[in-house]
Amino acid sequence: MYYFGAHVSSSGGVENAPLNARAIGAGGFALFTKNQRQWVSAPLSEKSITAFRKNCEEGGFCPDSILPHDSYLINLGAPDDEKLAQSRAAFVDEMSRCAELGLNRLNFHPGSHLNIISEEECLRRIAESINLALDKTSGVTAVIENTAGQGSNMGFKFEHLARIIEMVEDKSRVGVCIDTCHAFAAGYDVRCGDGPSNGNSLFAAQSSSFEEVFAEFDKVVGFKYLRGMHLNDAMKPCGSRVDRHSPLGEGEIGWGCFKKIASDPRFEGIPLILETPEPERWSQEIATLRSIQ
Ligand SMILES: [Zn+2]
Ligand SMILES: [Zn+2]
Repeated sequence: MYYFGAHVSSSGGVENAPLNARAIGAGGFALFTKNQRQWVSAPLSEKSITAFRKNCEEGGFCPDSILPHDSYLINLGAPDDEKLAQSRAAFVDEMSRCAELGLNRLNFHPGSHLNIISEEECLRRIAESINLALDKTSGVTAVIENTAGQGSNMGFKFEHLARIIEMVEDKSRVGVCIDTCHAFAAGYDVRCGDGPSNGNSLFAAQSSSFEEVFAEFDKVVGFKYLRGMHLNDAMKPCGSRVDRHSPLGEGEIGWGCFKKIASDPRFEGIPLILETPEPERWSQEIATLRSIQ
């Protein structure tokens, strides 16, 4: 089963997210379980939790098809000890909220060194943050997202993801999510022969490029750690390190990459989430993904 979905709104309560996902014909979805721009939110009410579980069941969404995303404020690799403690507490709260909702994974951006500490020290802090959170929670896997490498964000190389995993004690509860736009912006050419170049030598070069990137991913990180994908086209060229998403097929990546993902069993059984900029087009993008399988 390929769980195509989008990062839908949970405004008015988390229980609305599965309804919003159903309305666009999704087979999975992503959501924020609290306001992503605030440090503290009210705990989830019993009523909200019950309604969320019921709506997921009625919509046919199993936990493996759902990929919650944590708050953008959290920096698990923060150089400042106070900020780090605040981030770690907020992350444990996010993991606990996922557990309460019956979910089994939480997607997050690894963290930033802010040019104050070294990359290795930042990665060490991130891994320690994950270890602390896994100790305090159960049933939820910490899913590290690759980044575009903007500013001092870590996670733009597969080696960063691998290094964090290496330092995490419980390997059964750590995983990764690959965002196609972030990978492309970070210099991984995920294009796969598309458009007018089909059939000529350029097609061949691009086609192998997708395969090469994911062969490298498998070698450095391992497909066994893949817990989700973010399907986004990219507005800026490969290696730009600029994180700007485009609708599928309208950016620099093109449909070839998404066609490949939609029919490659290595991407089956995990949330495949659109974070493309025009929500009114999500139902069409999902329908197209299904039609090209
Ligand atoms: Zn993200
Ligand atoms: Zn993403």
